[in-house]
Amino acid sequence: MREIVVREESFADEEQLCSYIASQLALDNPAEFESFDGGLGELIARLSDITHPTRIVLRHESLDDPVAEVEGLATISEVSRGEEHDLDWFDVACALLERADDFIEPLDVIVYYDDLGDDEPNEMPTNITIAARAAISRLKQGNVDYLTARRDDRNISSGRIRELFEGGQHPYAVVITCADSRVVPEHLFMAGLGELFVIRVAGNVVGDIELASAVYACEHLHSKLLLVLGHTHCGAIESAMAGEAHGPVAAVTSRIAECIGDERDPYVASVLNVRAAIETLAANDELHHLVSEDGLEIHGAIYHTHSGVVDFLDECIRA
Ligand SMILES: [Zn+2]
Repeated sequence: MREIVVREESFADEEQLCSYIASQLALDNPAEFESFDGGLGELIARLSDITHPTRIVLRHESLDDPVAEVEGLATISEVSRGEEHDLDWFDVACALLERADDFIEPLDVIVYYDDLGDDEPNEMPTNITIAARAAISRLKQGNVDYLTARRDDRNISSGRIRELFEGGQHPYAVVITCADSRVVPEHLFMAGLGELFVIRVAGNVVGDIELASAVYACEHLHSKLLLVLGHTHCGAIESAMAGEAHGPVAAVTSRIAECIGDERDPYVASVLNVRAAIETLAANDELHHLVSEDGLEIHGAIYHTHSGVVDFLDECIRA
């Protein structure tokens, strides 16, 4: 599988984008792409002839979904008149390539938005303890795999069960997330047995028990990444916003209500709730020590329940 990853900020215009994609395609299809010098229409026309499985991953900078914007438009020329739909050239390119995916069999196109920040190194350390940066990279790659998965090859064999029993667990990340049935860290990061230490509780609130579990994993299992993963359309947050701070749900909703204050936007509220959890974790003495002395990092992210994308937030706690 040839994978071509494209970030909007790396290209000034359509011409640059096309020549970059063509240069990558030329590695498997020299005859069609080696001296390519055309625009998107020509690129897509030639893509119809590829035989080698190829994935193009396009990261665009705005939260709007360009593919949804052009849904319903039948032809390339309709889509190309992007200005009528308030799209820039890259949005149009995303939409056109995404559409080409429908009729070119070996082609797989993924369009996404994130705020992942700088490139992360790909190499993984060989020792058992995995550094926070490498752990983040692995989670990000896992989420990309999840978004494109058509089957699941994770190792849940009896051999792996025995290996973990005999060798013990060394999870590379601790994930604190909601109990929502749609937000399953092992699935959305494509992680197998023994990879993630997961703490799930409605609204991903961090109380004494969640805190104690996180400290245990970071101190005793030496995980270097602690991730608070909120999500969109969170029932616990919606209940808190609706003022349901009484009765049996109050233990969760009153804590969330404190974190989100008067915020009325559910997405912003979920981000505020994640930030509050990060602050609670960072204020703990043991975790604070591990951050300053032992390479622990505390990060936040939001899982989008409509798309499966995990957006890593910019703020993080590290030494
Ligand atoms: Zn939730």
